[in-house]
Amino acid sequence: VPDAESKKLLDATPQSYPDYEVMPEIPGHAKYLLIGGGTASFAAFRAIRASDAKAQVLVVTEEEELPYMRPPLSKELWYSDEPKLVEKMKFKQWNGKERSVYYNPPSFYVEPKELAYQENGGVAVVKGRKVMKLDPQKQVAVLDNGWEIFYDKVLIATGGRPRNIPVFERASQEVRDRVTLFRGIKDFKRLDEVSKNASSIVVVGGGFLGSELTCALGKRSRDSSLKVIQMFPEAGNMGKVLPEYLSQWTTAKVRGEGATVKPETFVKRARYSDGKVILKLNTGEEISTDHVVVAVGLEPNTELAKESGLEVDDTYGGFRVNAELEARSDIWVAGDASSFYDIKLGRRRVEHHDHAVVSGRLAGENMTGAKKPYWHQSMFWSDLGPDVGYEAIGIVDSSLPTVAVFAKATEKDTPRAVVEETGESLRSVTETEALSIFGSAMQQAATSTVPDLEVMEATLPAKEEGVAAESGETTATPEVESATDEAPAPDVEAAAKLVAEVEAENRVAPTPKEDYGKGVIFYLRDDVIVGVVLWNLFNRMPIARKIIKEGKQHQDLAEVAKLFDLHAD
Ligand code: FAD
Ligand code: NAD
Ligand code: NAD
Repeated sequence: VPDAESKKLLDATPQSYPDYEVMPEIPGHAKYLLIGGGTASFAAFRAIRASDAKAQVLVVTEEEELPYMRPPLSKELWYSDEPKLVEKMKFKQWNGKERSVYYNPPSFYVEPKELAYQENGGVAVVKGRKVMKLDPQKQVAVLDNGWEIFYDKVLIATGGRPRNIPVFERASQEVRDRVTLFRGIKDFKRLDEVSKNASSIVVVGGGFLGSELTCALGKRSRDSSLKVIQMFPEAGNMGKVLPEYLSQWTTAKVRGEGATVKPETFVKRARYSDGKVILKLNTGEEISTDHVVVAVGLEPNTELAKESGLEVDDTYGGFRVNAELEARSDIWVAGDASSFYDIKLGRRRVEHHDHAVVSGRLAGENMTGAKKPYWHQSMFWSDLGPDVGYEAIGIVDSSLPTVAVFAKATEKDTPRAVVEETGESLRSVTETEALSIFGSAMQQAATSTVPDLEVMEATLPAKEEGVAAESGETTATPEVESATDEAPAPDVEAAAKLVAEVEAENRVAPTPKEDYGKGVIFYLRDDVIVGVVLWNLFNRMPIARKIIKEGKQHQDLAEVAKLFDLHAD
């Protein structure tokens, strides 16, 4: 609580101090202070303003940018043929419609120094400033220039920064000058420029960012002399998320985009020679390249924890918060930086756009008194260009056992088609429209108990379908394996039965060579579905969410798969 002197300062208005000619650039007090200008903060200020119509919200962000979305930075922006749009950070959605990465135009925001005097409140953004520490008892935040801002409620939404690897951290300045750690607008602009002139770019990392950027650069390489090489330690792209066979398939797809992909490969040494970076690989090979993109994961921004007396999660990283996303009294944490207690799936930290939206919104609601726990599961999506994409929910970790059902895809089963249908490129937003677009069977499935097969007359036409089951440890062609000597769990048994049936009818279970048109993949923990990937299968997220929420054991996953009506469109 501010002391008497600070209080006087805080309560000051131009009227009570008529002599002041210049107001400080940054207000000394904010009812709602949001640290970080990313998606979680954006979602929070929308929620705060929705329940407290006159709220004065102050955002402090280290970036020199107003709040913006990151997903297009590794997708749509690379596929634009209009450089003028890209300069303004505008992109065309897969359906061709124009959109800005910025959530709001500058006119939406109030000048920080004027915020305190806005009768109807508003949102102000202080750019290019870092919050160094909080004093939770005095309720004050200290900025990097020593300025203090008193707050009533504060949100920490500091996200994360890209990790680096020692081989590049220790390298010479010449090498480091040719390495991009990719996170924001300025990184996009730089890599965009580099890729127009470079003859070769190496992408290190096989996760979301590395794989999406490789496809994007690969596309660019088709119309130029640019060579794109991706390398990572796993056996295939997205190997930490997708089951082995699907990861292999994805690798083939990324290669098809025009890139050279080197799985099970990592950089041992990096040196500079004659304008080039020379990478010595674990395979003994040496590669000469103009530029390196390092995409090896995220480090949550928790520097302010120690001095502020906040707890950092030893296991997941990030600030440790409860189910209401509160770290200490009047301090909430949302987005990538939050290790939260999910009352359904346990403690987690999630690094995805929709999670920033869902958790930012929840924090905003709780900052205005809602006291709600984390309940609505967030989803995420990844597109490898406009033609292949997937959406997922819950815990999707390739070390869990999985069971999947696939069917042949049609032209409508692509990210481009779903954006054309819904007019929306953020597929977390598409979902809210899915029910109305998709019809009544979907509504019933999403609102009835799962599985409730009477209401779903969906069939599983055997001819076109393959079933894949994979235990966490299996690396060969999909097969069912019991990790212990105990009797196989019912789901695994069901999957085994299906695989056997498939084989008996002389149809093959999917192999890496096969085209996984579209399908649903269940991730199991203690025989309960804890995660679902919808592979080129869109507008079905409410059903997956329902299944996760129910948290039941299912005897027959093929029956559960029917709920997704693989043949509906
Ligand atoms: P951030 O967006 O990282 O925002 C945090 C902000 O806080 C930053 O502006 C940072 O500068 C600022 N900050 C940090 N510390 C301080 C401090 N001490 N003081 C003041 N400001 C500070 N997810 C998906 O689900 N689907 C996708 O397709 C997808 N694509 C992506 C593509 C790219 C290129 C990237 C980088 C990410 C993508 N993601 C995607 C992930 C998603 O963007 C993140 O999960 C999301 O941005 C997290 O939001 P956030 O608000 O928690 O953090
Ligand atoms: P000032 O600008 O002359 O500053 C006096 C000292 O306080 C300086 O050393 C300055 O660096 C420091 N200071 C000012 N704002 C600070 C902040 N946010 N964090 C840390 N240090 C800060 O005079 P002043 O007393 O700050 O007031 C200037 C004008 O700003 C007045 O018009 C006053 O009404 C207005 N004001 C408004 C608010 C508010 O909106 N809640 C708070 C403070 C001042
Ligand atoms: P990630 O966690 O998805 O992938 C990390 C990858 O780094 C691993 O798969 C591995 O291939 C690689 N790696 C780790 N250590 C390595 C080493 N020593 N040498 C070589 N490679 C190594 O993280 P990311 O792909 O870097 O993405 C950064 C952040 O952006 C993440 O938070 C991610 O969720 C987010 N993002 C999400 C999306 C999406 O949801 N579609 C898209 C882009 C980025």
